[in-house]
Amino acid sequence: MARITLDHIRHAYGPKPSSEKDYALKEVHHEWEHGGAYALLGPSGCGKTTLLNIISGLLTPSEGKILFDGADVTGRSTEERNIAQVFQFPVIYDTMTVYQNLAFPLRNRKVPEADVDSRVREILEMIDLSDWANRKARGLTADQKQKISLGRGLVRKDVNAILFDEPLTVIDPHMKWVLRSQLKRLHRQFGFTMVYVTHDQTEALTFADKVVVMYEGEIVQIGTPVELFERPRHTFVGYFIGSPGMNFLPAKLAGATVTVGRHKIPLERAPTVAANAKVEFGIRPEFVRLGREGFPIQVLKVEDVGRQKIVRTNFEGHLLTAIVSEDAEIPAEPHVTFKQSAINIYADSWRAETEG
Ligand code: ATP
Repeated sequence: MARITLDHIRHAYGPKPSSEKDYALKEVHHEWEHGGAYALLGPSGCGKTTLLNIISGLLTPSEGKILFDGADVTGRSTEERNIAQVFQFPVIYDTMTVYQNLAFPLRNRKVPEADVDSRVREILEMIDLSDWANRKARGLTADQKQKISLGRGLVRKDVNAILFDEPLTVIDPHMKWVLRSQLKRLHRQFGFTMVYVTHDQTEALTFADKVVVMYEGEIVQIGTPVELFERPRHTFVGYFIGSPGMNFLPAKLAGATVTVGRHKIPLERAPTVAANAKVEFGIRPEFVRLGREGFPIQVLKVEDVGRQKIVRTNFEGHLLTAIVSEDAEIPAEPHVTFKQSAINIYADSWRAETEG
């Protein structure tokens, strides 16, 4: 397993990029830990696959270097980098049996047959295809074929990293959950460095120790699921993570007091914000409390989503969403308060740091 260093990497698909917007991947300068499980998360077109392909060696970055355990591999092929990859759609040999497909990467590297057998059987068990070991891959469903692809990615123990590009797209929802949990278990057991591309936050948050959130070609935050939830660095992270996402309301700041509409809300500490910055008040719906105290609001809509209710309200002319428990009573003249420690202040879309 390797520590992966992305050293001032940038990539533009077109020739002669002249401004920031010409780069599909804006500057990335970061070190990914040996044995870490990372998810690259973001909407379509934000640059996830570009970054993954730079790590795997399918793409050479326009600028910067990539290092594995300190050694420069920028000019090396995927094979030379010793990387296993699992793509969105199955990459398998139809004429081989399921067993042979899994054994292939090991036999190719002259692993002793006894070790091949024990490892293949272990993986067969994991992907729930033990009973299909001697069947030709040709006749299997897309779902089963993708499980073989996944197994082929995991079968070697000596790889520097395993890269997954939306690998569960063709898998049915229940199996998705099972495979994701198994990947996580496997990661704990063998400590592979894993990079997993997805646009699905549940997939990212359940799989990864660190989630790398990308937006318009830029990494906007690398954090644990808890950090992304509690302290989104960028309004995009607040909006993209969570269901529904974070509320953002236009605000004014004076020291440790934020004003939203006509209401002044005290903060725990004063955030540092540049003069003329666009200030926003951010609060997750989970920390918006409805009751008889606080600031008056108007309830617009209540959605029942099982054990919780999503309440859409009008607060000073802005949409404010709250999540309350299913049995919570909403008063006839509802008011709102906010959990103070859960308030985040944003200046020009970036979270303002606080003093002290
Ligand atoms: P998706 O989830 O849809 O796969 P993504 O986040 O992986 O998206 P990329 O595929 O990395 O995003 O694309 C990033 C940007 O680069 C997009 O604007 C895309 O149109 C552009 N792009 C990707 N591949 C090429 C290419 N071969 N030539 C030119 N532009 C490309």
